[in-house]
Formats: sequence, structure tokens, C-alpha cells
Amino acid sequence: MRRFTIVIHGGAGTILKSDMTPELEQAYVHGLQEALHAGYAVLEEGGSAVNAVKAAIVILEDNILFNAARGSVFTKKGVQEMDVAIMDGHSLEAGAVTGVRNVRNPIELAAEIMRNSNHVFLSGKGAGDFAIKQGIKLEPDEYFFSQFRYDQWKAIRDSDTYSLDHTNQELEELMKDKKFGTVGAVACDKEGNIAAATSTGGMTNKKYGRIGDSPIIGAGTYANNDTCGISCTGHGEMFIRAVAAHDVSCLMEYKGYSLQQACDEVVNKKLPALKGEGGMIAVDKDGNYAMVFNSAGMYRAARSSDGSEEIAIYK
Ligand code: ASP
Repeated sequence: MRRFTIVIHGGAGTILKSDMTPELEQAYVHGLQEALHAGYAVLEEGGSAVNAVKAAIVILEDNILFNAARGSVFTKKGVQEMDVAIMDGHSLEAGAVTGVRNVRNPIELAAEIMRNSNHVFLSGKGAGDFAIKQGIKLEPDEYFFSQFRYDQWKAIRDSDTYSLDHTNQELEELMKDKKFGTVGAVACDKEGNIAAATSTGGMTNKKYGRIGDSPIIGAGTYANNDTCGISCTGHGEMFIRAVAAHDVSCLMEYKGYSLQQACDEVVNKKLPALKGEGGMIAVDKDGNYAMVFNSAGMYRAARSSDGSEEIAIYK
């Protein structure tokens, strides 16, 4: 039987043990565990990589600790606008959404776009209309509200700063251990099919309809059965400029790099040259995986049918 694997992340940044309480650390580990096991169960039962990444992301989106769906950060206008993408490495089909509001699980909407629209990328109101038409579950604003992210936004809403939580001094103080928490999942199933997905509220105090890397195919999310599946987290502007996720795939395809070598090249050489902080999770068709980041920490977890399982937060 082929080796099958799922890998997830819950965001990267200045995540330090010294800032963390044991209770909060436990809550993060538990959240990651739950999502990892849900995704793995799909693969174990012979389900597809696409369904496995969806299952994992739904659980992370529902968890208020992470900056995706419920618990998303606030924009300059004090609302939550979410970005998400999913890609199927077998068909190279993809579905993505930017600036959508009130959708309980944006990943479901992205998957619906991938399967049942003639399009790849929908934005704002149009994406919302499509969600309603397809019967995707909506929630009122209160559902998405989290006090700590509201306080975090209040501290910088009168400035021009937009932030990955950890990059701002004032926020550092305010956020302590909360940091940030875009979520992502990549998987390789029993058939050798690969999928990748990323879901986020973006960056605190983002304005003018800012779009991050997460929903952009090739920047924050990419999957191709011939190479790898990638989900990124970090300062989105630099990941877009580096075309980070697709670059890993290209290094494998055109230069014969291994998954680990390709991720190292992009995360530890290309992104730092652009001052791009963050990381990525990755899987290849043989079920090998990598979790690479250039920040102090990245919430991450992986489980493979060869028996390996790891959950980690710090470097
Ligand atoms: N990459 C995301 C963005 O720029 C943020 C994150 O990963 O936390 O929107």
C-alpha cells in the first residue's frame, strides 16, 4: 500500500514558549490534534486528499484560537473578511475566495467553487451570492467575533499599520501568546493524489480590499500530483512576490530538488531576501512531508501511515 500523509499548520510567527501559558499551549496542541486526526481518518478510510484537507480545515476554522473563519482578525473597517483556497493536484482544479464575509466555513465555499462553478476565484459580494445559491452555511457577525482579536485591532486601527500580530511592538504586548493563526492542510492519499488548502482572516487592520497570499493559487496554496502540495503562512505580500508555493513545485519539477530541499530554498533563501517571514507545510506523492519556517515558531502537525506523528509549535 502507498504511504499516505496529512500535514497541517495553524500559522507562523514570533511564537515563543516564554510567552505561552501551559493552558494555552495545551489548547493549541489539542486543536491541532483534533484537526490532524479528522484529516487522517478520511485518508485511512480511503477518502481523497481533497476531502482530507477539507475535514482538517473545517475543524481549524471552527476553533476560535486560529485566524480563520470564526476568530478571524479585523480589517481597518472593523469587519472580518476571509480568504481561502483549495487545489486538487490530480486534476489541477482549484477554487478560491477573497474578501468573503459571514460564511461559516469558507473552505466549503472554495471547494464548491472548484467543483460546481466554471470559475476558480470569486471575490466579495459575488462570492457571497454564490454561497447562498449553493446553500453554504452562513453565520451572523457575532459568530466570528473574538475579544482578543478585537482588542488587537483596536490598538492599531487609528494607524496605518497592518500586522501579522507579531510584527508590531504594541501588538506584541497585547497579543502575548495569541499571535496569529492562518490555517492550512496538505495531504497525499492512498492513490497518490495530492491536495492543498489554506484559510485565513488575513492581516489585522488590512485595508482597501487587501488580498493576501493564501487564496492565490501558486502563492500561498498549490497542489500538483507530479510534485507536491503546499500551504503557506506568513507575511502574504512577500509570499505573493516570491510565488512561494509554486516555486517549490518548480524546483522539484525542473531542478530535481527533493521536497525538503525545495522548501528550504524558498523559505530560508528566497523569502528572507525579500524580508518575508513565515513558513510552509508540504507533502509529495510518496507521502514525504516537510514543515519549514524562518520565524520563531509555527503551529504544525503531521501524521503518516508509516506510523510517524508529530505536533510542534516552537523551533
Ligand atoms: N499569509 C496570510 C496573509 O498574508 C497571513 C498569515 O499567514 O497569517 O493574509
